[in-house]
Amino acid sequence: LAIPDFEYFRQEICDIFETTKRFTSGNVASYIPQLARVNPEQYAAAICTIDGQRFAVGDTKAEFCVQSCSKPISYALALEERGHDKVHQHVGREPSGVRFNELTLNHEHKPHNPMINSGAIMTCSLIQPEMDMADRFTYVVEKWTAMAGGGRIGFSNATYLSERQTADRNFALAYFMRENHGFPVEVEKNLTEILEFYFQCCSLECNVQTLSVIAGTLANGGICPITNEQVLRPETVRAVLSMMYSCGTYDFSGEFAFKIGIPAKSGVAGALMVVVPNIMGLCIWSPRLDKLGNSVRGIEFCKELCNRFNFHNFDES
Ligand code: GLN
Repeated sequence: LAIPDFEYFRQEICDIFETTKRFTSGNVASYIPQLARVNPEQYAAAICTIDGQRFAVGDTKAEFCVQSCSKPISYALALEERGHDKVHQHVGREPSGVRFNELTLNHEHKPHNPMINSGAIMTCSLIQPEMDMADRFTYVVEKWTAMAGGGRIGFSNATYLSERQTADRNFALAYFMRENHGFPVEVEKNLTEILEFYFQCCSLECNVQTLSVIAGTLANGGICPITNEQVLRPETVRAVLSMMYSCGTYDFSGEFAFKIGIPAKSGVAGALMVVVPNIMGLCIWSPRLDKLGNSVRGIEFCKELCNRFNFHNFDES
């Protein structure tokens, strides 16, 4: 078993959850009303081990928008379809050192990495571009569902519409990349479609339990722990986890890698998807964000988890 004494572990998780509830600083995202209106008190955590042991605590049924937690998945789907070399002709692999939506490209005029907006818009442009919009959306939801072992993947149309309406920066990023001939020539005519597809991926919804199974699939070399379906190739997962490790928590990524030492990706709705490779996936969700845009309780939960267990990549085992 990945976690031999699961009952003990579960009590520790509950204890971490209770002790981190007191962190009530930060603010919910307010750039769109759908996020501004979310009840900030909500808090939930879930785990799914690579052998399918599961546990969840708190507001475990509440659904939230995945937002930037979609970025590793979009990157994974692009890699599966196009392969590493093709994908990385269009997007780099370095932390950007600037905010996730900064209007900037690397010295090769590519987005710095797939975990920031420009990079995720780029990887979205590489996913099934020949499909029409409806089929492409269905394709992505099916992949998410497979990674989630059949867990429900919802969609917030209101969030999608709001994202699309409040998207000047993302449009600017897309035009900037097109000006620099960043997109594959066969897709660059359809910038609006690319962006709409990116907003749709950000507007997918699920609960912590579902996202913990997806994280569990990443922890398990691409095999979903509850269905045993191989959804992603191991080499895809390796690339995705590397990016999450170096770039997954915005401008806190270096600190997160240093202090906590495992791959994670945060989203602006307060989700934090965390992978302990070969052991388990976790999802922590609480909407209040710190100044860098990460869930305050999510980060505190991870710090406490790695204080109590030797999950840090460079802990001695
Ligand atoms: N939809 C948001 C955007 O593109 C996602 C940002 C995020 O979660 N950091 O700006």
